[in-house]
Amino acid sequence: MAETLFDRVAIIGIGLVGSSLARVIRRDNPRTHIAACARSAETLDAVRRLQIADETTDDPAAAVKNADLVVLATPLSAYAELAVRIAPALKPGAIVTDVGSVKEAAIRDIAPALPPGVDFVPGHPVAGTEHSGPEAGFAEMFADRWCILTPPPDTAPEAVAKVTALWRLAKMKVVTMPAEHHDRVLAVTSHLPHLIAYTIVGTATELGQDLQSEVVAYSAGGFRDFTRIAASDPVMWRDIFLANSEAVLELLQRFSEDLTALQRAIRRGDGDTLHDWFTRTRAIRRSIIEAKQA
Ligand code: NAP
Repeated sequence: MAETLFDRVAIIGIGLVGSSLARVIRRDNPRTHIAACARSAETLDAVRRLQIADETTDDPAAAVKNADLVVLATPLSAYAELAVRIAPALKPGAIVTDVGSVKEAAIRDIAPALPPGVDFVPGHPVAGTEHSGPEAGFAEMFADRWCILTPPPDTAPEAVAKVTALWRLAKMKVVTMPAEHHDRVLAVTSHLPHLIAYTIVGTATELGQDLQSEVVAYSAGGFRDFTRIAASDPVMWRDIFLANSEAVLELLQRFSEDLTALQRAIRRGDGDTLHDWFTRTRAIRRSIIEAKQA
């Protein structure tokens, strides 16, 4: 059995990501006491039914009492208020981390509220599905994926090491980088693709009734993959675009220039440009497969 990393863990927000982490801790550190916090009775009932926590509460301050590690796993828009609510109840020496998909905003919203003697290690396990809630979680969700930690330079190295060990327990590959860099990278790899999927699926729903039914019938031709991405949680994605607006807008500018170039190639019948472009993108797919991230 793996060494117990934390005696008491509080998970604030126990949906897809929070509950998956709770399952990892249950599996590999069964002696760890887990306190889970959510807003709704429905979510807390599900957590009790699934037996993935020792204690459930809708009061974040009660959840973090005596916790050695506090994991914020709610949508980003809840962070600022939650940080203020938990701060007075945190144990001296506790570590606070989070799983949010945008890191500069997470630091801006959480760090100023925390008392001295508490370390904040911002994190983003880059793993997930389009489903939400504690029933959708599973321990293997993180396996072989990257977890990006973005600790500000003055963060205690021991705290970073302990959070690193936790995500390694989840079988993740852990890397650290500055928050600003994380947000620019994720704008490319995750945020823009989601925006494109939301746009395409939205456009299809505006089509005439006859075309719409055909879109559903023949969706295997590429559209189906977009519908899966566009089924992702609306609250989470609203928050991501608002929190990472600068990087996303900068990238969108470049994207629309490239889209215009391809549009021009199609209009002019310029097959060479299209062929060159698609050959380059095919190579990117191959490298993702080789990196086992497909
Ligand atoms: P989720 O399944 O919708 O779960 C969110 C949880 O947060 C629910 O338990 C919800 O409780 C709780 N919550 C919301 N507001 C709260 C508040 N004010 N106080 C206490 N609990 C609150 O969401 P998720 O997919 O796990 O995403 C959570 C975080 O992980 C987000 O910040 C997201 O950016 C990040 N993330 C997501 C993915 C992904 O693929 N989904 C991947 C990596 C990182 P109720 O059910 O009671 O409302």
